Amino acid sequence: MTSTPVKAVGLSNKSYLERIAALHQELLIPSDYATRGLTFHYEADELVVGELDPNGKEMLMEPRTAESWRRMKEAAAVEAVVFFIEHAYRSVEVQANIIRAESARGSSLEKSLTCIAAPGYSEHHTGRALDIACPGCLPVPQTDEFERTVAFAWLTEHANKFGFFMSYPRNNPQGIMCEPWHWCFHQQKAQQGVAGYRRLLFKYQDPVINQLMEIINARHPGLTLVVRLARVRDRPDEAA
Ligand SMILES: [Zn+2]
Repeated sequence: MTSTPVKAVGLSNKSYLERIAALHQELLIPSDYATRGLTFHYEADELVVGELDPNGKEMLMEPRTAESWRRMKEAAAVEAVVFFIEHAYRSVEVQANIIRAESARGSSLEKSLTCIAAPGYSEHHTGRALDIACPGCLPVPQTDEFERTVAFAWLTEHANKFGFFMSYPRNNPQGIMCEPWHWCFHQQKAQQGVAGYRRLLFKYQDPVINQLMEIINARHPGLTLVVRLARVRDRPDEAA
């Protein structure tokens, strides 16, 4: 909805690492936690309001994620598929609060860590991870419920083209429970997806030129590639 930065949260690496260490000590996170295959993440340097949740709460995310999210949502709407965000950016302190709340509910730390990453290891810190829900489906986390939705089917087929990838499929090596609602934006993969999409558009939008190029290609294979690259480069960048 808006791309105006609303919050700069980047802190020095040292203070960030100190905050993480203090939280791990307090929460009794096992010292070998870092060896479980989860990636360490820093908090986002810049966040924007990507959208408001159904209760009007601001969903903060990294700017390029917000832009790609907007494009993806518009593409889904064309096919009458609707989804929205339940959770986006999360600070390490909020992550710690979730673990504290689980503990207060009587959940063991071991069990909590199968569905909640320890502070410093959640993709939500980056502002690129989004928990997606849809009208009528139960709030996250309800694995089977969300997997049966039209929204999930659409995301499975199309989200990669917009740079969003499901981080924790079934039997993921990180040992996190399957999270079909959790999608993370990867800029580099998004650019690859857009480049492929452009080539596809080019192929289908210029049938006459395409036909000509096929003739040229039969005689001078290298020439068509140069022409294709030049035309793709001339188009305005659609990457997020
Ligand atoms: Zn998530």
